[in-house]
Amino acid sequence: MEKILISACLIGDKVNYLGKSNYHPLIEQLLEKYELVPFCPEVEGGLSIPRSPSEQHGGKVINSKGKDVTVNFVKGADLAYNICLYLNIKIAIFKERSPSCGVHHIYDGSFSNKLIEGMGVTASLLKRKGIAVYSEDEIAALL
Ligand code: SF4
Repeated sequence: MEKILISACLIGDKVNYLGKSNYHPLIEQLLEKYELVPFCPEVEGGLSIPRSPSEQHGGKVINSKGKDVTVNFVKGADLAYNICLYLNIKIAIFKERSPSCGVHHIYDGSFSNKLIEGMGVTASLLKRKGIAVYSEDEIAALL
């Protein structure tokens, strides 16, 4: 069975910044065709559950309290790529709009719910490395 790296919150892990999941209703169908490897770059990068929300701004990632958490996001992205290499994973499914996982859109850094085109730190790294990156809105294309 082909393996897919997937945002851990999409399979039901309560790892988002609020300590909740973003469970996706197509997960069961995905499991019929693929082995899902859950991964949360922010938690693996050393951030807590729950945590202050973060947004990308000026090439860095800053949380809502003004703390620079770029190092945590970069560490999470590097670990995600290492897992892909180790397990020979060629596909990833990520949670849209996250500063780590966003595939097409992220928030603009002003903490005012304004979306811009862009990718999360982990999604961007994996795409640059040749992994096929899908958002949760594109899962149907894999079924
Ligand atoms: S970093 Fe990614 S996997 Fe972790 S909670 Fe945010 S969207 Fe989900």
